Amino acid sequence: MISPKVSWDKSVWFFDIDDTLVDTAGTTKVASGGIKRVFQERFDRQTGKKVQALFVDIFSVMMLGHASGTGSNPFHDEILSVMEVKQALIKQKYGVMKKWSREFFVWFACQKLGISASREVIYEAADAYWMTLAEKTILFPHVKELFTAIQNHDRPIYFLTSSDGRLKIDDNGMFLYDPVYSEGLKRERIELLREKGLSFRGVSIGDPEDKPHKDFFLKGIRMAEADLNTSIDLSHAIMLGDSYTADLETPKNVLGFGLVVQFVKGLKAVEVVDGHFIRTGNLLESVQFLH
Ligand SMILES: [Mg+2]
Repeated sequence: MISPKVSWDKSVWFFDIDDTLVDTAGTTKVASGGIKRVFQERFDRQTGKKVQALFVDIFSVMMLGHASGTGSNPFHDEILSVMEVKQALIKQKYGVMKKWSREFFVWFACQKLGISASREVIYEAADAYWMTLAEKTILFPHVKELFTAIQNHDRPIYFLTSSDGRLKIDDNGMFLYDPVYSEGLKRERIELLREKGLSFRGVSIGDPEDKPHKDFFLKGIRMAEADLNTSIDLSHAIMLGDSYTADLETPKNVLGFGLVVQFVKGLKAVEVVDGHFIRTGNLLESVQFLH
């Protein structure tokens, strides 16, 4: 046990959403049912099934590649090399690709299957995926109890969430990124969490600067300060997320957050990494580390 450094009275709570509060990766297969539906309506039953199956493969290969890096799986490297070509304009303008764009995954699946789908069908399929995900997603256990505990202390909750990388396609078949469009769609998806019983004061989205860039977090902190109408003492700020490098490293090491909490699905006991960093499979455990 560490001696708690963050006080309830001054605490400000920042949360990642996907795979921290809700099981996004675990809902992807179910959500891909939305893609199947669109392709079944526009083409036929078989096509719907095939596009869905390949989409699910692409997503899981991307997840594995995310964990183990390039060079470990030829299919992963192929996806990325095609992405380099098709998202070249985005990379030129923003310095990075939108690696998790579901529009890109659907388009890539169609390419591989030799299906010629219009851009509108690709957009429609990606929409159907995200809407199904928003409907079907489930909160991880104890999330609601943690929110209740925070609200009982009358402390503010904000969400700091990555871009969904919602893309469009131009006349030459190149992918385009419009941060305002992408952010607007994500905001709609996040608002649906209120219907699941989560209340929050604000959300800051990674369009265009995304995690783990310092500017992403500064944008979120400024949003919170504007909302609270006061400056925030970051030594009493808490960030909770599932990825150390994406969600927690910058707040902890660059911005001096008092506590960062990594949610590790299935972890049985709390691990104290150091005085400002814990890992847990139950986010409610975080409250022990406040005084
Ligand atoms: Mg996450």
